[in-house]
Amino acid sequence: MTDHQAPDGIDLLLSTSGGARAIARCDFLGRWPYSDHKTGLFRPFLGQGFEASATRILEWMREAGMDAAFDPACNILGRYEGLTPHAPAFMIGSHIDSVRDAGHYDGMLGVMLGIELVDSFHKEGRRFPFALEVMGFGDEEGSRFPTYMLGSRALAGLLPPRALDARDPDGMSIAEALAEWDIEPNHFASARRAPKTLIGYLEPHIEQAPYLYEQDLPLAVVSSIAAQSRFYVTLTGQAAHAGSSMKTRRDALSAAAEMMLAIEKIAQGGPDDLVATCGAFTTDTGPATNIVAGEVTFSIDLRAAHRETRDSVAATLLETLQAIAERRHITMKFEERHNLPGATCDPTLSNILAESGQDVTGAPLPFLVSQAGHDGMNVAAIAPISMVFIRCEKGISHNPAEAVRAGDVALALETMRRFIERLELFNNG
Ligand SMILES: [Zn+2]
Repeated sequence: MTDHQAPDGIDLLLSTSGGARAIARCDFLGRWPYSDHKTGLFRPFLGQGFEASATRILEWMREAGMDAAFDPACNILGRYEGLTPHAPAFMIGSHIDSVRDAGHYDGMLGVMLGIELVDSFHKEGRRFPFALEVMGFGDEEGSRFPTYMLGSRALAGLLPPRALDARDPDGMSIAEALAEWDIEPNHFASARRAPKTLIGYLEPHIEQAPYLYEQDLPLAVVSSIAAQSRFYVTLTGQAAHAGSSMKTRRDALSAAAEMMLAIEKIAQGGPDDLVATCGAFTTDTGPATNIVAGEVTFSIDLRAAHRETRDSVAATLLETLQAIAERRHITMKFEERHNLPGATCDPTLSNILAESGQDVTGAPLPFLVSQAGHDGMNVAAIAPISMVFIRCEKGISHNPAEAVRAGDVALALETMRRFIERLELFNNG
């Protein structure tokens, strides 16, 4: 199949505008050559599928009346001018990269909805006191280079030093990959936007959790994006034969088991938005069944709606695990390797979004905490942010089975239209 042909059945949908076309375009981009893989979707930052997709999306942005180009951080940015040139912009965005064996809608649906929104205003010849921008962040997932959210961190001026030194599994650095694209790595950080150029940000995104599916609701307003930490715990005891006395053992595996149950209990005893997950488990016993483990490592993923909650729970966890380790004569190393501060969505934008959603769906929208990280948490450093969640089937995401309903996506698009119209009134005083 050439890249001019749509997968079976999508042709018709691609020819109509609106929510159905947003879905059809996500499906269209869900396969080779818009994926690096011939079967299934894998669209890592700066790969072949990424280049093909970005080129196609830039065309769609231009057809919708926008000036569109890559920004210096290899994000794709479309701009629909306001009533006066150079007006500050309201940005609608999400990410265009994907994980391996991805679904079609994580990230991409938000970008496609932004394009449909601008397209509908463009067709009506409507302009606003502010410009509209549609942003497709290049790297959110970090599925090629061992990093994450480079695009939105660049936009917000939050790039860590030497961020472009990270190397993919083939040994190529981000800087080298950018050079292959004729993009000057030294300019990457100049994607930073001055806060005065942005009046706000809206990220439409699938929920990636089953709340809306279970409640049989189409949309939700996100109240905050959870603060996340990832810890690695290394326990060193004494490896021994399984025949050794129970009295003298320093069993790292039993210590880990006790710790995991304690972590679960602490999380269960906290507020609803607090979650803790143990994973990435290794032990030095290998497949042997007759060895007392000498060393065990495991990870803890900790999330809460507010940074303060997360940090105080992290302190409690550390204290609890230390006490278990001491009692069992186990040496413990407790390392934080990942820390995202999370972000609170702007109450004014969130309320405007909720009113717009209620107008469209006829019922109040629930407010949810996003336990997954999103680009908006970085954009929050330079602009007030808001997010609308769209139901995904059974909450399944990062999986080829990811699915959305056409009716929900149409409601999301109409909610976004009313939201921008309300913002217009709001900005006129
Ligand atoms: Zn996403």
